[in-house]
Amino acid sequence: MTKVLYNNDIQKEVLQGKKIAIIGYGSQGHAHARNLRESGYEVTVGLRPGKSQEKAVEDGFEAQSVAEAVSGADVTMVLLPDENQPKVYEESIKPNLKPGSALAFAHGFNIHFNQVVPPENVDVFLVAPKGPGHLVRRTYEEGAGVPALYGIYQDVTGNAKEVALAYAYGIGAARAGVLETTFQEETETDLFGEQAVLCGGVSSLVKAGFETLTEAGYQPEVAYFECLHELKLIVDLMYEGGLENMRYSISDTAQWGDFVSGPRVVNEETKARMKEVLEDVQNGKFAKGWILENQAGRPQFNAINNQEYKHPITKVGKELRALMPFVKDPIQNKEKEGKV
Ligand code: NDP
Ligand code: MG
Ligand code: MG
Repeated sequence: MTKVLYNNDIQKEVLQGKKIAIIGYGSQGHAHARNLRESGYEVTVGLRPGKSQEKAVEDGFEAQSVAEAVSGADVTMVLLPDENQPKVYEESIKPNLKPGSALAFAHGFNIHFNQVVPPENVDVFLVAPKGPGHLVRRTYEEGAGVPALYGIYQDVTGNAKEVALAYAYGIGAARAGVLETTFQEETETDLFGEQAVLCGGVSSLVKAGFETLTEAGYQPEVAYFECLHELKLIVDLMYEGGLENMRYSISDTAQWGDFVSGPRVVNEETKARMKEVLEDVQNGKFAKGWILENQAGRPQFNAINNQEYKHPITKVGKELRALMPFVKDPIQNKEKEGKV
């Protein structure tokens, strides 16, 4: 089995007294900055003026520009949206990187697809939490963590691995387990996973199930509970004990249905499509399309996003979640505050 590292395997002092600059204060940024600070490290946050900067100041960080934060930093962690990284890197990060310092990422996309080309005199590593930023923060506060992958792209100091691991410790990832990877493996598996399974696969499966039931005349409320709401309960069982725990907990009827009907829905044909998705990730076609879409101002992204928002599952879901006070709907709260 691959070696999984935990807190005791890590030299935490490697980053003691060093300056860590967190660039960006969004989903990942706020979690890394706050967790690292609470782990005893010195953290500055680099941002442009705006909502994120206000939030960082509220959380007790100084308002610094990207250039100011990077200057003199021993580790610069880039937590900007992937599509904004190349421009901010060229303008404000690269000119201020200290020789012998480390440039770090939470996803390998820009290094792997050559959108950011680092200078030869810095270490380059990634620490990629395998979970959303808000859970990186919440689990840390609960005394736990989100597992992470680390990888080294460039090691000029001979110390890149120790620094990456201390960083992983600082965000709480080494409480849950840290695994070694490469920029290529992290980038390709992350893109494939989110497209075919976690985000794309699951949302298409949920919608198709909801549509099949409502088109057959069943109530949308029932279809929503069956195909979306209950998914969390099933996934929690998988998270705790794998497919076998989920199957242990469900009825034998459900388990028989799982065996005979699951492979009718997700079959060899589906797997052939997954292989095509993986090929487009590996050969750079997906990356190229996404880079061009951003350069064009995201016409397709915005059109599809608006279309998806009009799906009947959105309306019924909003109504049902409003009646379940224990379900804290962040989107609905943001809408109330006029933020989306
Ligand atoms: P978000 O979109 O949540 O946050 C982006 C942050 O960058 C915001 O604080 C934003 O501030 C700031 N920003 C954007 N453009 C600029 C700019 N031109 N100059 C200065 N600041 C800017 O990003 P994520 O946290 O989702 O993603 C960060 C990285 O983490 C990515 O590489 C992503 O792939 C990776 N990652 C993300 C995960 C997730 O859970 N979301 C999971 C694992 C990895 P402002 O308010 O000013 O716009
Ligand atoms: Mg991703
Ligand atoms: Mg059932």
